[in-house]
Amino acid sequence: MSAGTLTPPGVRTSGDYIDQVMTSVKAKNPAEPEFHQAVREVFDSLRLVLQKHPEYQEAKILERVVEPERVIMFRVPWFDDQGTIQVNRGFRIEMNSAIGPYKGGLRFHPSVTLGILKFLAFEQVFKNSLTTLPMGGGKGGSDFDPKGKSDNEVMRFCQSFMTELYRHIGPDTDVPAGDIGVGGREIGFLFGQYKRLANEFTGVLTGKGLNWGGSLIRPEATGYGCVYFADEMLKSRKDSLEGKLCLVSGSGNVSQYTVEKLLDFGAKPVSVSDSNGVIFDPDGIDRDKLAFVMELKNVRRGRIREYADKFKKAIFMPTDIKMDYNPLWNIKADCAFPSATQNEINAKDAANLIKNGIKVVAEGANMPSTLEATRLFLDAKVLYGPAKAANAGGVATSGLEMSQNSARLSWTREEVDDRLHKIMIAIHRNCFETAEKYGTPGNLVNGANIGGFLKVANSMLDQGLV
Ligand code: NAP
Repeated sequence: MSAGTLTPPGVRTSGDYIDQVMTSVKAKNPAEPEFHQAVREVFDSLRLVLQKHPEYQEAKILERVVEPERVIMFRVPWFDDQGTIQVNRGFRIEMNSAIGPYKGGLRFHPSVTLGILKFLAFEQVFKNSLTTLPMGGGKGGSDFDPKGKSDNEVMRFCQSFMTELYRHIGPDTDVPAGDIGVGGREIGFLFGQYKRLANEFTGVLTGKGLNWGGSLIRPEATGYGCVYFADEMLKSRKDSLEGKLCLVSGSGNVSQYTVEKLLDFGAKPVSVSDSNGVIFDPDGIDRDKLAFVMELKNVRRGRIREYADKFKKAIFMPTDIKMDYNPLWNIKADCAFPSATQNEINAKDAANLIKNGIKVVAEGANMPSTLEATRLFLDAKVLYGPAKAANAGGVATSGLEMSQNSARLSWTREEVDDRLHKIMIAIHRNCFETAEKYGTPGNLVNGANIGGFLKVANSMLDQGLV
């Protein structure tokens, strides 16, 4: 043994172990870069844990936690309005049920692949653990694109999708919800078909309509929760959202309710976007302008460029795929709420945000920052709320919807919002204290990954080799 080495020859260190499992993840799951990225980020944090807990290595917890308990992949045939047959691919990843039934959204977007859904399902396991509620992790969806489809086409697709999925899910087995491209309309069609096939009215999906088992505040929950989390981060530095200039990306469910809650806190949101471009409104997006965005996106299903036609001082910057940065993240602001999609902030975007003095990044979207961007934020001591903590309010409120369904009662708006707020405070405290305990104060990435992992890993140890 050389001087200064603590490990005898032939004995693997936790670092070796992690690198070995990572190599195997890449070899076994080729062409799934987003899945590799999500695993890498969690594993980097776990180096701190495995030194103290060799029992996880002995029980091969890492090898087990990266392997989905079950993957379901299926054909989804449907007729379009012209009577032409269309064929899409459907998925459900049942990732981990150590602490409860599989729980996680369905994404309908042409970019959906097995690897994208595996990264989302993997993240979901630790996120759900952080919520303090008994929910395992899963994710699903399809490469179906609801954009430009009629309501009838969306319904026929959803019915065909559920005709296969229904035999794999259930209120105590696997409870899907919405995600990109799956909102109230899609959940309604999916629920209707499930009920018809299973002949039961149960809480098998969350995000349901209020008249048929949905929870108040569920549509708002991810955006509201993300703002509550940002507020907690700022409080840790004796600061607040009052008067802060805020960048929000996307213009869907998460973005809309992020903007709404920012206004409640006296902040000034100045941007929204969609896949065609960015709106920058230097006057700020007030409640009337937000109502316009909601009608545009949720009812008329139009493009965000219309905002600049309606409000003349707003600037529209069309998406230019040749650019290696997003102009949205080059607008000078105090806080950033990426709320569109994965890897929407690359290293150059992060550098632009930091150069312009960003104080807070709270991730409404899942894995919106690349690993390089995350490192830049942490090095610059930006208050950085990683997705699995900052956007956990959505699934937490889905958990509250499940509780209300089981008890066959409905809580008031105030009661659900109050519970959501308390959960977000608890998640922040858990991440903050865990980061300190493991020697990286202020690093909420480590706090979230370790805090989420420990509960799942200990439950897996308790339940034996399954
Ligand atoms: P949504 O309502 O479908 O809205 C998605 C928004 O992001 C739209 O404005 C969309 O623009 C934009 N977008 C999607 N893919 C894009 C891409 N590849 N490039 C540029 N823009 C893109 O979805 P959402 O529910 O708000 O979800 C947004 C993010 O939050 C996702 O990462 C999701 O996983 C995450 N999330 C959602 C929830 C929830 O409760 N809904 C919970 C936790 C996390 P277009 O209309 O042009 O596509």
